[in-house]
Amino acid sequence: AFMFCRRARRLGRWARAMEIVKDFEEKCATPIDKLRKVADGMTAEMEAGLASDGRSNLKMLLSYVENLPTGDEKGLFYALDIGGTNFRILRVLLGGRGKGVVNQEAKELSIPPNLMVGCSHELFDFIASEFAKFIASEGEEFQLPAGRKRELGFTFSFPVRQTSLASGTLIKWTKDFSIEDMVGEDVVSTLTKAIERQGLDMRVAALVNDTVGTLAGGRFYDKDVVAAVILDTGTNAAYLERARDIPKLHGLLPRSGEMVINMEWGNFRSSHLPLTEYDQSLDAESLNPGEQAFEKLISGMYLGDILRRVLLRLAVEASFFGNIVPSKLKDPFVVGYPHLSSMHEDASSDLRVVRSNLKGIFGISEISLRKRKMVVELCEIIAKRGARLLAAGIFGILKKQGRDVSAEQRTVVALSGGLLEQYTMFRKWIDSTLAEMLGNEAASVVIVTHAIDGSGIGAALLAAAHSQYPELDIV
Ligand code: BGC
Ligand code: MG
Repeated sequence: AFMFCRRARRLGRWARAMEIVKDFEEKCATPIDKLRKVADGMTAEMEAGLASDGRSNLKMLLSYVENLPTGDEKGLFYALDIGGTNFRILRVLLGGRGKGVVNQEAKELSIPPNLMVGCSHELFDFIASEFAKFIASEGEEFQLPAGRKRELGFTFSFPVRQTSLASGTLIKWTKDFSIEDMVGEDVVSTLTKAIERQGLDMRVAALVNDTVGTLAGGRFYDKDVVAAVILDTGTNAAYLERARDIPKLHGLLPRSGEMVINMEWGNFRSSHLPLTEYDQSLDAESLNPGEQAFEKLISGMYLGDILRRVLLRLAVEASFFGNIVPSKLKDPFVVGYPHLSSMHEDASSDLRVVRSNLKGIFGISEISLRKRKMVVELCEIIAKRGARLLAAGIFGILKKQGRDVSAEQRTVVALSGGLLEQYTMFRKWIDSTLAEMLGNEAASVVIVTHAIDGSGIGAALLAAAHSQYPELDIV
């Protein structure tokens, strides 16, 4: 009788686990008709956001980038890139007409987490001092003639209300950043002052969002790039818009007739988004509740935490990890997207990558194969939803540009970000979902490229295009 009871209890728990997973899967479903509604919502919000500020959950920010790189840029330029977990410094030597990047040096540092939530002084002093070290270690060949300042592009990957190409105030923080005294402040003057404190003389020639930098970098290599998407810690998109379709430009009409728009699509919301109770509690407990709804379904900072929340439910309601609930399951953000992708893409027959991840993250040592399979299934549900929604977002942009039907114009979308580099399955779903939405004819001319670090190069290129000095002959 005892044995029988144990078995019945075990079956009961397993049934409950299956129920939880099935319910989650149903709520995450993204059938194509739902994705079309998401894309339509995106297009409509884009129009509203372009009409005037504050009308839409899409900010549709003006970048003041009116011309994208031509490939003729020449000289020595720098880029600083901050926005996720890493901070990058980049120096490029541009050869001019057709020669491209002839020399490049990059340094990547991780940002101490306490600086992401401290005060602006500390964060910018860190950036400036690392930049000063980088400059100090440069060789003779990179010294500029006397009186000439170094020029740089600053990639700052948060929503900024720009007042010109090289100035703008921070609207709000996103991702894991929250530095109160910075909100509303001018980003470029904060950086410039910090660099001056290091005793360096330099000029910020362009302030760009990472999406805008990626678009510029993409265009440098391919003239048909018309939009860029970042999928990393956060997510966002930028694209080239006709000035006459941007009513909020009022009189200001760029000579090129175009301007790059930073959509800030992470903040997109729609009743068609497949939200679950796990997403709701993640949002409520986040640094920015009520904001960045689209981002919280898609980007690298959040995917792993959605998984953790489902696993916690399984542990509590279905004793998934035995009779006690591992305490680490209650710690937010312990599961990163590299964990998710490595478990999801575990090709070993006994799913030993899943086992070692669960042990490493939560200290869970015993877990059966069928439960490990269930964990893989959860990764799949989460990643698939994210990838399909992202593809719907891209489709929304193509629709806005009128590039969703015709098979005449070659159209390239530059995708970039750590998540895409590491998570093959995610990338494949983006591609296949977009193809599904476009249909055969249009899909044959829409190309999604995966650019590696386009945003830094792009910022340096924009700095070059807006240099205040005559062309330098050091190449
Ligand atoms: C920010 C965007 C940025 C994106 C990707 C979002 O959280 O709001 O400005 O482009 O992350 O880095
Ligand atoms: Mg980045």
